[in-house]
Amino acid sequence: MQTNFELKRHNTMKIFEVMRGRESVSRKELATLTGLSWGSVSSISAELLQKGIVIAEKEASAGGRPAERLTLSPTQFLQLGIDINSVGLSFVVVNLQGKVVQSETLPMENSDKDDLLKVLYTQTEKMLLQNSSIIGINLSMQGKINRKTGVSLRTNFFKGWKNVPLVELFEKKFSLPTKLYHDPDCLLYYHMQNDPRLTGKNDGFVVRLDDGIGMARLLNGKLYETGDETSFELGHTIAVQDGRACACGKHGCLETYASLRGMREIYQEKSGQNAVAFLDAFKHGDMLAHEILQGATKRLGVAIANLFTLSAPEFILLDGGLFAQFPAIFQEIETSTRENLTDDCNLLFASYKREAPAIGACLITIEKTTEEILFDL
Ligand SMILES: [Zn+2]
Repeated sequence: MQTNFELKRHNTMKIFEVMRGRESVSRKELATLTGLSWGSVSSISAELLQKGIVIAEKEASAGGRPAERLTLSPTQFLQLGIDINSVGLSFVVVNLQGKVVQSETLPMENSDKDDLLKVLYTQTEKMLLQNSSIIGINLSMQGKINRKTGVSLRTNFFKGWKNVPLVELFEKKFSLPTKLYHDPDCLLYYHMQNDPRLTGKNDGFVVRLDDGIGMARLLNGKLYETGDETSFELGHTIAVQDGRACACGKHGCLETYASLRGMREIYQEKSGQNAVAFLDAFKHGDMLAHEILQGATKRLGVAIANLFTLSAPEFILLDGGLFAQFPAIFQEIETSTRENLTDDCNLLFASYKREAPAIGACLITIEKTTEEILFDL
């Protein structure tokens, strides 16, 4: 049997969930939508108002007593999200409604560990000063992490970056609870809450195609949580046996052929030009650059088709900076994927939003800590 407290907790969560999906709601609508009694709705909403989690606004009415509309506070209990990625740094402040209050991106100018940490600290400090209602910091990190200890174990993209205790460092410096998430997991959360094509979906994958290739899985309607230190490594599946050397220690990994960095490196090796010239060369119709992209497209098609064949997911959603740099590539990846499948597949493409992983990191924390906020746990 549920105790009174458990019952109240359950009802409060019901009310919070209904409010999270709506701009604003009256008490009467809340009662209808939650199936709770008028008395329960009144007493719980009074408590939420008192804690500042909810605010009330008078509704304009022609006569009689104006009804109040309730909204989750847009300015209190904010979360700061930071995506640390070799393609750039992204900082967002997200409110309880899951909306972005402030957003800033910084280029990755220096990937040396100490310099990078300095940039992260300075920008974090600046945003905390501008938003005094931030209650937590959420880091979205590429590479290998330990979810339990909050340590970024390694990434092949930053110099000297090994076993960096990000959570400990941030908590010590800013005295705010800090969480560390793997970036594809954050991207999955972002899309599950923002992409109507994924509504009601239970099984699928989100693949991030940037300098690296990351992947997260939705299983039975929830983010599939792998072990503390493991994750889905589509980028390190073998695309070419005994192929190009990968920073992970193996040879022939997909990432060395089909990630942005992999393609830049192939271009540098074959043309003798600087790696950063790859994109420009492509835009100017350079044959070699086009061949490299075509090779990447073919290999991505095979990898994604294999993923469909292995797991029969309801969808695979592709996202990342690859599409910002080569907008036409999705069509080609889709064609290549279908060439390697006999059945139909639901391959989706997200319009690229640089700050999506940082927002997703906040959304994970909002979902996981709602009860703590609501009940001062
Ligand atoms: Zn590898």
